[in-house]
Amino acid sequence: MTATRRPHGAGPDGALVCLACDRPREAGHYLCRSCWPALPGPARIRLCRRDRLALARLRQLVDQLHDGTPLNQIEITL
Ligand SMILES: [Zn+2]
Repeated sequence: MTATRRPHGAGPDGALVCLACDRPREAGHYLCRSCWPALPGPARIRLCRRDRLALARLRQLVDQLHDGTPLNQIEITL
């Protein structure tokens, strides 16, 4: 990876961006308002839970996005 690689979810100016499309997103959400509804319902419900597994679920989401999994085929199993 290059030195320009930035942490997931933060734009160059520190603004929050969608993990899937890099458009602006709101605080407390992983995806923007266009991408979020494209996720399967069960995945959305699990990603909304904020408990000790929340970070592991986020990792599942990010891994699948990196693999090029279409939003409507994302699976969150935790
Ligand atoms: Zn998006």
